Amino acid sequence: MKTLVLNAGYEPLSVVSFKRAVVLVLTGKASVLQSDRDQPIRSETIAIDRPSVIILGRYVKPPRGRRVMLSRRGVLRRDGFLCAYCGGHATTIDHVLPRSRGGENSWTNLVACCRACNGAKGDRTPREMGWTLRVTPAPPRAGRFWLSELEEPIDEWRPFLTAFGWGAERPRPHAMARSEAA
Ligand SMILES: [Zn+2]
Repeated sequence: MKTLVLNAGYEPLSVVSFKRAVVLVLTGKASVLQSDRDQPIRSETIAIDRPSVIILGRYVKPPRGRRVMLSRRGVLRRDGFLCAYCGGHATTIDHVLPRSRGGENSWTNLVACCRACNGAKGDRTPREMGWTLRVTPAPPRAGRFWLSELEEPIDEWRPFLTAFGWGAERPRPHAMARSEAA
């Protein structure tokens, strides 16, 4: 079990060991937002609840420059689980330029897509379909995408993650039919 660290603006920043979290709290750098009372940490002098979520007292600039690994889930998350073509709930990803025509696996050629659009598009380009992309696919910005631990968040973290797109995987009603332009 680990501790979720939120930046001073409540944005998920990192995941650390309980031990590290306790040090951050005891040194006044962070405060506890949620803790697990059933499993206190005991030392010879103190017993404290295990923090499951802590928040930093001061805003920390998220580290930059780390490359974000391309992943199917990452593409879905970047696009907010919304189809790049119709805006409906996306459950798959689509190669904008189809693989069969030289399209590569990259952040700029992959978009979130609903099954209907994915199936209709097949091996064609959006232009051939008369579709326009609702988004300009680009590598995601730094931050939450690095936190591979959040792929499977523990329950205590969830309330602190949803505001930042984590947990958005829950099915949403298909908001719109495919673009009229299609
Ligand atoms: Zn769609």
